[in-house]
Amino acid sequence: MATLTDEINRRRTFAIISHPDAGKTTLTEKLLLFGGAIHVAGAVKSNKIKKTATSDWMEIEKQRGISVATSVMGFNYGDYKINILDTPGHQDFAEDTYRTLTAVDSVIIVVDVAKGVEQQTRKLMEVCRMRNTPVIIFVNKLDREGRDPFEILDELEAELKISVRPLSWPINIGAKFKGVYNIYEHSLDLFTPSKTQVTERVEIDSVDDPRIDEAVGEKDAAKLREDLELIEGVYPPLDVDRYLEGKVAPVFFGSALNTFGVKELLDCFVKIAPSPRPVTAEERSVSPDENTFSGFVFKIHANMDPNHRSCIAFVKVCSGKFERNANYKHMRSGKMMRFAAPTAFMAQKKSIVDEAYPGDIVGIPDTGNFKIGDTLTEGENLHYKGLPSFSPEMFKYIENTDPMKAKQLEKGIQQLMDEGVAQLFTNQFNGRKIIGTVGQLQFEVIQYRLLHEYGATVRWEPISLYKACWIESDDQAALEAFKKRKHQFMATDREGRDVFLADSNYVLQMAQADFPKIRFHFTSEF
Ligand code: GDP
Repeated sequence: MATLTDEINRRRTFAIISHPDAGKTTLTEKLLLFGGAIHVAGAVKSNKIKKTATSDWMEIEKQRGISVATSVMGFNYGDYKINILDTPGHQDFAEDTYRTLTAVDSVIIVVDVAKGVEQQTRKLMEVCRMRNTPVIIFVNKLDREGRDPFEILDELEAELKISVRPLSWPINIGAKFKGVYNIYEHSLDLFTPSKTQVTERVEIDSVDDPRIDEAVGEKDAAKLREDLELIEGVYPPLDVDRYLEGKVAPVFFGSALNTFGVKELLDCFVKIAPSPRPVTAEERSVSPDENTFSGFVFKIHANMDPNHRSCIAFVKVCSGKFERNANYKHMRSGKMMRFAAPTAFMAQKKSIVDEAYPGDIVGIPDTGNFKIGDTLTEGENLHYKGLPSFSPEMFKYIENTDPMKAKQLEKGIQQLMDEGVAQLFTNQFNGRKIIGTVGQLQFEVIQYRLLHEYGATVRWEPISLYKACWIESDDQAALEAFKKRKHQFMATDREGRDVFLADSNYVLQMAQADFPKIRFHFTSEF
């Protein structure tokens, strides 16, 4: 029988992240094909919430439905159990993605060869860097005209602030794309445009093998040898430990749409990517192979059916074995809880599970007990650290338009904030509630959900703010002086911490200059 350690060692829990349109959905689907989790291409729906849908509520709801269905995709590949955690494509839901990154052990970043590093990729990489998450980069769409691969490598290093190490190398690009040389396995894969076909592989002994010339022609073979020589001169061999520390990222080239370069990526991934690692709780570091279960909620997804105000809390198992109907302690409330119908996500199907291991995600049906970041244990006092809140980008006053529904509104706001849909600040001066988001779409989702799930109607009122800064100081008097001076712009977050709402970058800079004893933070943890 497999031991706990066996189960841990065979698990790979990761997320694929990219700027929209780089090919995340396509790559995910191809990985599932290799894992036998799906049998036809086109089975994975993009969970992208399209801009055009902003006023079409049913459409948003439908798309949210898709994203719950594809939230976690588990499948077996050889001896490995792979869990892919899906992240929303739309940047207005970036916070969701950040939080999902707290539940993975590594990531694969997809970059479009023509577009290079884009804004969303850069932001997501910052979160990976904060947590030293190991990353592998897949440069996609080699079948299209794109940039010089050396130029892409330089850009990856400069923009993502990480060393890179190519493990495969393209022979030409676009219309002339002939294949990739697999540096990792020393083989040559020839490109044939195809959606499902297995790649044609040429067995070779070394880069000098004349079979390369036969396969791609002398000119391209010569260029390949020249490129490889340059690579070996510039990039040290892959140091797997440095990859695991998040210091160097292996890079693969391919075309997800053509299922090209994907298997190579997957085979290398299962070998080098980390199995579940120790997780830091406030109290101590917790190793996955400890005998007692612990885990935390990293995502809450509301039920789409307004008649059942229930949701699914996604729990990442951090240590021990999770068992159905066992008694677990919900740390925040101190209550013991039992879960009769926890679900897992295998091969695109959601089904009730009896047990789950570190690295696995269990979905727990919930009616408002859970909040993002909550820890569950067998009894020990542990609090897993989530991700800090980042300063929102957009702010609006939220106003009740139906005084009869004040209670419902209060409850709705509270639950939506528990789900992490947006952030709530209360102005200390006038008591008005301010909602902060990273995008316009979230305001629309909040308004819609408050109405449909809580029967509360709200109106947004503009407030022009630049940033929310969490403030602190070692000098209590200086802090009080600052708060007094800025009293109209002081707010409290949900945890009761002081937040300064700066209405412009200029005001913020002036405040920093005038109050040198105050520290201004753009995230809620410091
Ligand atoms: P996502 O937004 O990152 O999930 O991107 P998608 O997977 O939805 O892909 C965006 C578009 O790029 C789709 O039209 C895909 O068919 C296309 N695409 C993905 N991979 C490739 C590729 O390797 N080559 C080409 N030519 N197009 C691709």
